[in-house]
Amino acid sequence: MVSRTIPVDTFDLVIFGGTGDLARRKILPGLYRRFVAGQMPEDARIIGAARSDLDDAGFRDMVGDAIAEFMPGQSKTDKTVKQFLSRLHYTAIDARGEAGWSNLAKLVRKDVVSAFYFSVGPGLFGDLASRLQKHGIAQENARIVVEKPFGRDLASAKELNGALAASFEEHQIYRIDHYLGKETVQNLMAVRFANVLFEPLWNAQYIDHVQITVAETVGVGGRGGYYDKSGAMRDMVQNHLMQLLCLTAMEPPARFEPDAVRDEKLKVIRALDPVEADDIVRGQYVADENGPSYVEDAENQDSLTESYIAMKVKLSNWRWNGTPFYLRTGKRLKARMSEIVVHFKETPHSIFDEDAGSHANVLSIRLQPDEGIDLRVTIKEPGPGGMRLVDVPLDMTFADALGPEAEDIPDAYERLIMDVIRGNQTLFMRGDEVEAAWAWTDPIIAAWKARGDRPKPYEPGTTGPEDALMMMHREHRRWREIKA
Ligand code: NAD
Repeated sequence: MVSRTIPVDTFDLVIFGGTGDLARRKILPGLYRRFVAGQMPEDARIIGAARSDLDDAGFRDMVGDAIAEFMPGQSKTDKTVKQFLSRLHYTAIDARGEAGWSNLAKLVRKDVVSAFYFSVGPGLFGDLASRLQKHGIAQENARIVVEKPFGRDLASAKELNGALAASFEEHQIYRIDHYLGKETVQNLMAVRFANVLFEPLWNAQYIDHVQITVAETVGVGGRGGYYDKSGAMRDMVQNHLMQLLCLTAMEPPARFEPDAVRDEKLKVIRALDPVEADDIVRGQYVADENGPSYVEDAENQDSLTESYIAMKVKLSNWRWNGTPFYLRTGKRLKARMSEIVVHFKETPHSIFDEDAGSHANVLSIRLQPDEGIDLRVTIKEPGPGGMRLVDVPLDMTFADALGPEAEDIPDAYERLIMDVIRGNQTLFMRGDEVEAAWAWTDPIIAAWKARGDRPKPYEPGTTGPEDALMMMHREHRRWREIKA
C-alpha cells in the first residue's frame, strides 16, 4: 500500500516558545519528519520566537541538538538535517512587552499562509493574540494554535476563549488535543462511517459497554507541582478521554467537515449525565523500590489530588441509553497503553450447548503501543471432538497491514500542524466543545472536594486501586488487561 504525501502551500510558521520543552521534543522533530517526507514546500519557513537571546545560528544549533536527541539515528551534521535547519529563523520576543515584535513583523511574509503556534503557558495566550494584531502581523487568514491545558475550569476556559476571540475569529483558532492526531483515532471514524458492518450495531441494543483506558507508567516527578493543581480528571479526562468518548459515541456527521464533526461531538458532551460518587474511584500511587509516592513527587504530603481515576459515565440519548462508558487513566500503572474497547453483547440465544461457552465480539482500537484495530470474532475451534467455540482476532495492526509504509505514518503533532497549514479544523476542538466539557467536569470535582474525598492508595506497577476493580465486578464486568 502506498501512502501519499501531498505538499502543503508555502507557509511561515512562528513557534512562540520555540526553545521550550514541547517545541524541542515534539513540534520541531515533527516538522523535520514532514520535511524529510517532502511535504514542506521549498520556501516554507519556521520562525522560533521565545525569550532566550539567540540568533538564527544559535536557534539552528539548538534545534539540531533536539533532533539528534529525540530522533535516534539523526545528527545535526547530516545533509538533510542541515537543509532543514537552513529553513529556520529566530527572533527573541517578549510576549508581555514590546521587545522583538517589530522584528517579527518584518520576518513574517504577507503573501503566504501564516500560522502562529502558542507553545507557551496559557497565561500568555491573550498577550500573544493581541500583540499579533496590534503589530499588524496576523493577516485575515492567519491561524493560531493553542496548547493544552485550555483552562482549569469553565470560568478560566471562558476567559481564555474571550482573550483569543478579542483578536481572532473562531475559524482561525486551532485548539490542539494531540490524541485527535493519532492515526487510529481517525481510523475509528473510517471504521464506523466507511463500513456498513458496524454502524447498524453501534448502539445500546448491541453494545454492552465501552472502555476507554489511557495508562501511563511514568509518575509525575519533575512536574509534580504543576500536576498537583490539576490531577487526572483535569489533565486527562476533561480533554483526551473526553475526545475519544465523543468520537466513539457521536452520531454520523452529514459530512467529514470541521463544524459537522464538531457539532456532533458537542451533542455527546451535552448528553453526558452527572456522575454519581459511587461511580468514581480516585487513586494516588504509593512509593516502591522504583520511585517515590505521589505525595512525595507532588511535594505535598496532604495532597488530595488524584494520579488515577476510573469512572462510569452515562449518556442520556436514544443511542446510548443503558450502555455505560467506563473511563480510566492513571500514572505509574502496569504498562503504557491507550485504547478504546467496544464490548458487544452476547448473541440473544445460543444454539450451542453450554460447553461451547458464552462469547461476545470485542472491537479494540489501540492508540498505543502498536496503533491498530482488532476485532475478536467467535469461530469453531479447529479439529474433531464436537463444537467448541473460540475467540480469534481479526487484527488490523497498521504495521502489519501497511508493511514498511507504516513507518511513514506521521506522528500526531506532525499531522495536526500540517492540518493547520491546510486550514482544516476537523481534528481541533472548538471553543464551545471545551466549555461544555468543563461544564460537565466542574460539578464532579466540586462534589468530591465538598465531601473531602481522599484518593485510594495503589501500588505502582499495578492496574490501580482495588476499588476500581470492585466497581466493575459489582456490574459483572471486567476491565481489560493493561498490557503493552
Ligand atoms: P517550557 O517552559 O519548556 O517553555 C516555555 C517557552 O515559552 C520557552 O521557549 C520560553 O522562552 C517561552 N516564554 C516564556 N515566557 C515568555 C515570554 N514572556 N515571552 C516570550 N516567550 C516566553 O514549556 P513547554 O513544556 O514547552 O510547554 C509549552 C506549552 O505547551 C504549555 O502551555 C504547556 O502546558 C503545553 N504542553 C506541553 C507539553 C510538554 O510535553 N512539554 C505537553 C502538552 C502541552
